Amino acid sequence: MSLLRVEEVTKRFGGIVANENVSFGVGAGQIVGLIGPNGAGKTTMFNCIAGNGSPSSGRIILDGRDITGLSPEQCARAGVGRTFQIARTFTSMTALENVMVGAFLTGRNTVAAREEALRLLHFVNLGRFADKPAGSMTISEQRRLAVARALAIKPRLLLMDEVMAGLNPTEVRETVEVVLKIRDQGIACLIVEHVLEGIMPIANAIVVLDYGRKIAEGTPQQVSNDPVVIAAYLGDE
Ligand code: ATP
Repeated sequence: MSLLRVEEVTKRFGGIVANENVSFGVGAGQIVGLIGPNGAGKTTMFNCIAGNGSPSSGRIILDGRDITGLSPEQCARAGVGRTFQIARTFTSMTALENVMVGAFLTGRNTVAAREEALRLLHFVNLGRFADKPAGSMTISEQRRLAVARALAIKPRLLLMDEVMAGLNPTEVRETVEVVLKIRDQGIACLIVEHVLEGIMPIANAIVVLDYGRKIAEGTPQQVSNDPVVIAAYLGDE
């Protein structure tokens, strides 16, 4: 059974249909890639799942519970963590303080929040930055910092929005390793990504959106060989 079920979700902004009747699932402990050309509706879908604006119609089900239209805080409490396309780190706060913000959301006291934040910083290979301002870190490090903060709410499903964009091959490798470690903890990962060489080797399944609609779904290999998908990407150039 799927941990997350997106059921016939449509999201309109006035006359623009950003998602049209999209359905897919993410199994517990799976990595699923959500890909598609610019403007395909990927971020809008993340927003619908994480409570940043409810769908115009359709349902979002997490572990059998209907979370459609809940607030971002309620979705976080239900088990949905997320990172944003532009990593929203607090640049003047230290890396440790950034992750503590997430840890406080689960009701921990300061000592427990600090301990958990330190553990998570080490988990994403950023332990050495604990006392450094987030603003002094590279983009790649700040993205992993945002991942650590999202993990601090103890999600069962983590939504990651373009954590590999603009990274060099070494940084992509480091990020992929962190994603695999997260999956190994039993946390399902839904990943929006344009860096296909990062997501294709590790995903259990890929969902492809184009102009708001799901145009393909399957294993990375099935999707890469699908003429409809190839045409959608070539048409974007
Ligand atoms: P990218 O890969 O460029 O980040 P995306 O696949 O994430 O794109 P979305 O950002 O979800 O795509 O946008 C899908 C469509 O919805 C676009 O046409 C966009 O202009 C429109 N859209 C998104 N958010 C809004 C909004 N708040 N108001 C109006 N239109 C919006």
